[in-house]
Amino acid sequence: MARFAAGVGFTVASLTLAHSAAGAELVIEQVTVVSPQLAAAQPKQNVLVRDGRIVSVSSKPVGAAAGAVRLDGRGKFLTPGLMDSHVHVGEVPGLPFVPDPALAAIGDAYTRQQPRSYLYYGVTQVLNLASTPDSAAAFEAQPQHPDLFRCGPAIVLDGYPSVFIDPSVRHRAVPDFIYEPANAAKHPLPAGADAAQHTPEAVIGKLAASGVRCIKIFIENGFGPDSSWPIMSKETLQRVRAETRKRGLLLIAHANAIDMQRIAVESQVDVIAHGLWNWNEYSTEQGVPPAIATHLREIHAKKIGFQSTLRVIAGLADLFREDTLKDPAYTKVVPPSLLAWYATPAGQWFKEEMRQGMGGVPDMKAMHNYMVVASYGMRATEYLHDLGHPLLLGSDTPSAPTFGSQPGYDTYREMRMMAQSGVPLPAIFRAGTLNNARQFGLDKDYGTVEAGKIANLLLLTANPLETLRAWTSIDRIILHGSVIKRESLAAPRE
Ligand SMILES: [Zn+2]
Repeated sequence: MARFAAGVGFTVASLTLAHSAAGAELVIEQVTVVSPQLAAAQPKQNVLVRDGRIVSVSSKPVGAAAGAVRLDGRGKFLTPGLMDSHVHVGEVPGLPFVPDPALAAIGDAYTRQQPRSYLYYGVTQVLNLASTPDSAAAFEAQPQHPDLFRCGPAIVLDGYPSVFIDPSVRHRAVPDFIYEPANAAKHPLPAGADAAQHTPEAVIGKLAASGVRCIKIFIENGFGPDSSWPIMSKETLQRVRAETRKRGLLLIAHANAIDMQRIAVESQVDVIAHGLWNWNEYSTEQGVPPAIATHLREIHAKKIGFQSTLRVIAGLADLFREDTLKDPAYTKVVPPSLLAWYATPAGQWFKEEMRQGMGGVPDMKAMHNYMVVASYGMRATEYLHDLGHPLLLGSDTPSAPTFGSQPGYDTYREMRMMAQSGVPLPAIFRAGTLNNARQFGLDKDYGTVEAGKIANLLLLTANPLETLRAWTSIDRIILHGSVIKRESLAAPRE
């Protein structure tokens, strides 16, 4: 993974070679190109791909080598592959936090299917926010997988998300925590730990050496009524900001409540990794109150990247939807053994935990409660879009151990929720292509259908600027110039 260490401006040549034989050519003929740098769809284009990169896009016939693969593009639409900039490839949706050896085979089946599920929904690049290098390696070891980029987690001692780990093993599970002197009374440096190894500079330096291109921090003092989790002080955040700038790393912040997102904006983070759905004292039946509007305008003015991650709350609501596991799309992206396990009492553990958290309310009421929370995030998303803010497509799959969140399918469902929020289809298309590529410094290689870019492309049977159905009727996925039939990526029978 050291090839990513530079953080900015690297090339992906090694990936290209892994996917397509030297000299291999592909021609897509008479296709309508839909690409975010174009004002309108361009019909009757011929696209030549060689060695995994686009060579030319032209209305003239192209001379390709004998033996080139030819695709008839008549009646079809060619787009860049999608990027989902908020995923966690190391976590199996719905499996318990503590690994259960009895479920290892199910986990392995998921590991094999996960990258294929992303590709099935047209996701050809993912940004892994805060999973281990091991899980990234397992993802990349699969024969067909989206190109993967990584962020590293800088977690404050005892803070979220390590707060869910048993305190007796927490410091071993998260050895590279940042020690926060301001929290020392409640969260002292563990016995035997060397404070010099737990400064912002030391932790970020170690993460940078592991080949990440961004650092993720967690501005989260609790879920629901709990607000007792430790977070970084202003001083520590300033040091984190300075160190990431020094190393050319982007700074990404988990924050989804108004008070937490205020800290993120004041700290000048590069990207806020969640939508704004906890409005706290500003919660209203409808509309966007002035304090929320002012905050969102500041995000826009400071050009802070914004991932709505609307599926986080909807993925919890789906735990309580009676048809979630009967959704025909699940048979395409979830291995049969995992799907069968979800339906067992053991597979419903997280649903029960969430239900108890709401006082044991009936399913319909629980679903409703979550959708009310989701509606705040949707209003904030629409408001930011209306300001002209370029949104980033990030699904946060899986955001919690919920079977309501599945790879690829949730990237699509995130786009569908953006549309339901009032974001027009062209803006959603940009969010998943050029906006993500630019935000994460990848636009030299990705984000448009243009000569010189990596040939991660989609052949669609409908125009995504006109209908969301385009993303559920993908004909071919082109990965580094190799053509893949969509149905070949569906979860196999075991
Ligand atoms: Zn996440």
